[in-house]
Amino acid sequence: MFDLSRIPETVRSEGGLSRRLFLSYGAALAALPALAAQSSAADRKVAFAADPFSLGVASGDPDATSVVLWTKLAPKPADPDGGLKPESIAVRWEVATDDTMKMIVAKGTSIATPQLGHSVHAEVRGLKPDRWYWYRFTAGDAVSPVGRTRTLPAPDAEPDRLRFAFASCQHYEQGLYTAYAQMAKDELDLVFHLGDYIYEYPNSPDNKKVVRKHTGPKDGKIKTLADYRGRYSLYRGDELLRAMHARCPWFVTWDDHEFDNNYAGAIQEEQPKGKVKADPAEFLTQRAAAYQAYYEYMPLRPRSLPTGPDMTLYRKAAFGRLAEFFVLDTRQYRTDQPNGDGVKPLVGEALRPSNSLLGKRQRDWLDAGLIASTGTWNVLAQQVMMALVELNYHPKPGYSMDQWPGALAERVSLARFLADRKVPNPVVLTGDIHTNWVNDIRVDDRMPETPVVATEFVGTSISSGGNGSKEFAGLEKLQAGNPGVKFHNRERGYVRCDVTPERWTSDYVVAEDVTKPGGTVATRASFVVEAGRPGAKPA
Ligand code: FE
Ligand code: CA
Repeated sequence: MFDLSRIPETVRSEGGLSRRLFLSYGAALAALPALAAQSSAADRKVAFAADPFSLGVASGDPDATSVVLWTKLAPKPADPDGGLKPESIAVRWEVATDDTMKMIVAKGTSIATPQLGHSVHAEVRGLKPDRWYWYRFTAGDAVSPVGRTRTLPAPDAEPDRLRFAFASCQHYEQGLYTAYAQMAKDELDLVFHLGDYIYEYPNSPDNKKVVRKHTGPKDGKIKTLADYRGRYSLYRGDELLRAMHARCPWFVTWDDHEFDNNYAGAIQEEQPKGKVKADPAEFLTQRAAAYQAYYEYMPLRPRSLPTGPDMTLYRKAAFGRLAEFFVLDTRQYRTDQPNGDGVKPLVGEALRPSNSLLGKRQRDWLDAGLIASTGTWNVLAQQVMMALVELNYHPKPGYSMDQWPGALAERVSLARFLADRKVPNPVVLTGDIHTNWVNDIRVDDRMPETPVVATEFVGTSISSGGNGSKEFAGLEKLQAGNPGVKFHNRERGYVRCDVTPERWTSDYVVAEDVTKPGGTVATRASFVVEAGRPGAKPA
């Protein structure tokens, strides 16, 4: 049975827990698989009408001795059930030390259940630290493509280098995934995806503005488990995205569009005048569907399996003693955006000490992890911009209430914690806003005379927004008013990071045209942080 204490306070306080809510939670829970009684699946002979590995293979969340391998059977990916009967199917997996799969070092069988959309999240244990491996799946007589993955160095190892990329925001209609074609050539150890993996919107009514079309409901946002599954399958149908997943392990976290734009916990985004926000009970039922689909399609460990509308996604990973990563969730536990959201002055509700993006539990976990860290670099991989930047080029200048300025007290206290506890070399990685930024972070960025505490690299979108622009007319004014902003541009792409014990280098890789296949890619800017000296400088 589910535990009432897991239901967010915001819902319990809305006049008590309704019977309707109780029933909807029950339905969401019933959708999760009974993990027992699957033994007959292993014996059944399955034959597929088409390749069941159309969604590709992926791996994720490696540690020094284990990794999770992912696939999802779907001979007909456009169908909500993937073209499969509601029966469990045995999927065998193999791990080798060579790309021809001759030197097998681990193998096993996972049961792909209809309740979880025939997804597979196979945890492989007992691997050697700091090694590359290759893997594949077999179901019936079908064999998957071979994927490549790796383990992290041992916790006490002192690696001399890590290369990874981070990316976010891949609206399918608005651009091609050209950036991933370059990323696949970069010889990376890891990828961090910071959210907006899908967008919940219907088809754009304007054919001129899109390079390809969303499928699914035409009259509104996707809302049901079948809708979400259809949307993920559409996105994962992209060959460049699939190829990058097969190339190296990913750490993923969501932002808002995996569920609903600018949602805050159980609270829907601001609605236009005359339209009321969704009832939190209904909204959480929808969230359960969104989170379940996210789990089904991502290379996450089984411990991330959602319980009803809740899914614990914040977690950490150590690349030996070189870097420790804290992957955060700033959507599920946050308080509502203050001052009615949007760009507003830093006054009124924005100053409420109770405003939070992390929630107390995640913040306590983060603080404890930062204190315990043995990493030379301490990296927060998260969603919304942390720098307190006044958007002074706006018609009504202000700060983004959806981003960290909307939780000013928490933002200042986190930066002060980094400073007071002398957390070594904090670096913040950010997505969400479809633009590139390099920001010095101070306890309060409005006081440029105070010391720099951390560096924030904000990566632009893979495709959201379509072709951007290299030059931004408001840049001079922006930087004059915000001396912590070291770089800003509005092209598409991702950020490639090269990390050594002495130096962190971030390359801003841009895809110059995402409207045509094979668009050119360039490194627009590179910034360096020297270990022990917070603040970014042009490389
Ligand atoms: Fe986005
Ligand atoms: Ca977002």
